[in-house]
Amino acid sequence: MIACPCAVCHSNDSKDKRLRTSVLVEVDGKTIVIDTGPDFREQMLRANVLKLDAVLFTHEHRDHIAGLDDIRSFNHVQQKPMDIYAEERVLQAIRQEFPYIFAEKKYPGIPEVILHSIDNHPFTIEGVSINPIRAMHLRLPLLGFRFGDFTYITDANYILDEEKEKIKGSQYLVINGLRKEKHVSHFALEEALELIRELNPKYAFITHISHQMGFHNEVQAELPSNVTLAFDGLVLDI
Ligand SMILES: [Zn+2]
Ligand SMILES: [Zn+2]
Repeated sequence: MIACPCAVCHSNDSKDKRLRTSVLVEVDGKTIVIDTGPDFREQMLRANVLKLDAVLFTHEHRDHIAGLDDIRSFNHVQQKPMDIYAEERVLQAIRQEFPYIFAEKKYPGIPEVILHSIDNHPFTIEGVSINPIRAMHLRLPLLGFRFGDFTYITDANYILDEEKEKIKGSQYLVINGLRKEKHVSHFALEEALELIRELNPKYAFITHISHQMGFHNEVQAELPSNVTLAFDGLVLDI
């Protein structure tokens, strides 16, 4: 965190360096990113992503959409607009936050997007099946996404039983856990672990981690053997 004097923010362990939360999914030759936070550009450069087919948004908070402008490089290289999938409310927020993208007279070189409205029913992107999962972020409804055996949910603090059914059977579950102390709109670590016990995936990963969680190595040592405290650059080969 900017200007934070705490020991975690000044740690030399690369696993304690936490950029904003996002995930890149590669499936059947398609590359899809979930959320484009303020660190999107740096993350794309770090992971050497040469091709991006679509962007999915979980919700419209700034730490999940602020980097959208940088998809312009993919527009340039791929010579086509970027397909964006989100709920109508989130698309509306994107139109408001990036008005120049949608202006009638466009400045040359600005991002080009095609907006696709989704809800919590299954949809496909160029043959890739995706099952969205409704979760709550205090009072804000958001979406998690399941691709086959892999489910990704961030920024949740509550999931309805019927939506939990959609997650069951996932071998891999990524779920947010902000810190050890309770938080009003994010699962705390113990709440995330409780959900993992209930849904029983083979492997689980905790994401959207605050500096208040503590040092990666110390927290990881306390976790069950099938739970990983996710870290920047983590790659999962399924
Ligand atoms: Zn949020
Ligand atoms: Zn967030």
